[in-house]
Amino acid sequence: MAYNNDNIFAKILRNEIPNNTVYEDDSILAFNDIAPKTPVHVLVIPKGNYIDLDDFTANASTIEIGNFFSKVGQIARDLGVPESGYRLVSNNGENAGQIVPHFHVHIMGGQKIKEGSMARGMQS
Ligand code: AMP
Repeated sequence: MAYNNDNIFAKILRNEIPNNTVYEDDSILAFNDIAPKTPVHVLVIPKGNYIDLDDFTANASTIEIGNFFSKVGQIARDLGVPESGYRLVSNNGENAGQIVPHFHVHIMGGQKIKEGSMARGMQS
């Protein structure tokens, strides 16, 4: 499957649609989810064109992958969620609930997440 340049996160990266930025550098953008499932619900995306976690871990460099997850941890600390706990989610593929085909992780926290609730948030 080829990367689709028309996906909504690609448009955000091209500044064609707005976002509520939490963190940005030359390789990563983090922004608030437009439909938060938890009080803190931030999406973190690499600026490179990767479809999903599988594509990212198969084709990005080890440095890029390490940098990405290191920054995810730092963003979570900046959001203040590690102490109370947070969930890190990446839906990989349509069957897993991935809607936007640009690799992203969800940082979800700020409340107790129901046991057994799935990655899309508080749905059970
Ligand atoms: P996923 O199901 O893992 O692909 O998650 C996609 C996420 O992107 C959902 O939680 C949506 O609420 C979120 N989303 C979709 N469009 C936007 C947008 N324009 N700005 C911020 N978040 C968005």
